[in-house]
Amino acid sequence: MILDRGEVIVVGGGIVGTTTAWFLAERGVDVVLVEQEDLAYGASGRNMGFLVISNRCSGIELDFALHGRSLYEGFSEQLGNTFEYRSSGGLAFFNDEADAALFREFAEERRSVGLTTDYLEPSEVREVAPILTGDVVGGVFCAEDGMIRTPKFVAALGAECARRGVRIHTQTTATRLKRGADGKVIGVETTRGQVLGDRVVWAAGVWSKLLADEGIEINMEIERLGALLTTPIAETVDPVLYGPSIATMYRHFRTLSSFESTYADRQELLSGKFTQNINQIDGGNLMLGCPMDYPNSFEDHPCRRPDAGAQRVPAQLPGPEGRHRAGVGGPRAQRQGRAAHHRRYQGGPGASHRDRARARKRRRPGDRRTDRPAGHGRGVVVRRRALLPYREGLIAA
Ligand SMILES: Cc1cc2nc3c(=O)[nH]c(=O)nc-3n(C[C@H](O)[C@H](O)[C@H](O)COP(=O)(O)OP(=O)(O)OC[C@H]3O[C@@H](n4cnc5c(N)ncnc54)[C@H](O)[C@@H]3O)c2cc1C
Repeated sequence: MILDRGEVIVVGGGIVGTTTAWFLAERGVDVVLVEQEDLAYGASGRNMGFLVISNRCSGIELDFALHGRSLYEGFSEQLGNTFEYRSSGGLAFFNDEADAALFREFAEERRSVGLTTDYLEPSEVREVAPILTGDVVGGVFCAEDGMIRTPKFVAALGAECARRGVRIHTQTTATRLKRGADGKVIGVETTRGQVLGDRVVWAAGVWSKLLADEGIEINMEIERLGALLTTPIAETVDPVLYGPSIATMYRHFRTLSSFESTYADRQELLSGKFTQNINQIDGGNLMLGCPMDYPNSFEDHPCRRPDAGAQRVPAQLPGPEGRHRAGVGGPRAQRQGRAAHHRRYQGGPGASHRDRARARKRRRPGDRRTDRPAGHGRGVVVRRRALLPYREGLIAA
């Protein structure tokens, strides 16, 4: 049975598949996209959404990252900022005086390649991110970092693709490539019939490794990351925050002369007990990530107690009632947290003069915070407990 035909078939409805479909459709190409579950089912539906600029190695990696960020600017103008794009910088902080030289060098080197970075003393760190605890001894702020809510971005782009004539078949797994008599690829077999086309883009994320069954080996390893979503808090966390393990996560740090091998050897930083990256989504919830491990296999069960990482969260997370775990409390406390966040972030009733001025600065026409649709931001409220796993995700590295 033939399910569909197109000039290009895209396999996978994550951020790579949907953006590929969108750019092709924009150029007038007839596209069919197949997705085994729903759009953003994979890593794109579960990630932190950091737009990392500060830690990209200069050269092609940094150029790509900057270009990517400018694309989001364009998308937020075209699609409306329904996907929480914000460009309010990133703060990398550390807790050990011994790391000061490394972070100072990081700030200087980044400035030398044109990024807007500043080394911050502890009091300045707390001014930028008041939720960080007292043992933070310094940090580096980079104005170019930002964030999006990836699942929302994929959903918005998927809807736009459909409007532009892309046929999106969800709950449709591509089971293998279909080849003609001469061996040339002429489409894919799926669980719902054949999809025929001139070209196939395999954008199946970590599952692309399964192309090995077709004799196509892709050099990738499987890394498993998790993230937690808290209930809303009243405080506003504008920049995205990176903890000290950042120095072991990104290749760029290793190129700095003050990067000592002892730092690289601090495996505890990567042991999964640390949940050091923090950002705040619409509605006031914090996202905490990313404990990780490297099973290098397809195991979709959680790798550890989901809240284990939260034992080492380096931030003070004042709940709505002043408790030191985010959102500890029932629905009433959650409502209070959301309302207080709304007050501070949007400059609503009861906001201080400073918060109002900040809110005015933040707002732009079509901004997510002024055009929030009914019910927006509520689907993610954790109901039963303060900290639950945001969905465990797989990522190809
Ligand atoms: C917890 C976590 C935090 C992260 N944080 C960040 C971050 O802050 N910043 C950042 O830049 N990156 C982050 N990442 C990485 C980022 O999410 C991924 O690099 C990105 O989402 C990969 O997109 P993708 O489209 O290639 O893959 P995916 O989003 O995994 O999409 C692949 C899609 O293909 C579908 N598929 C697979 N096989 C088939 C098939 N045979 N037929 C049909 N459909 C199929 C899947 O269902 C899936 O929807 C994070 C990842 C995780 C898990």
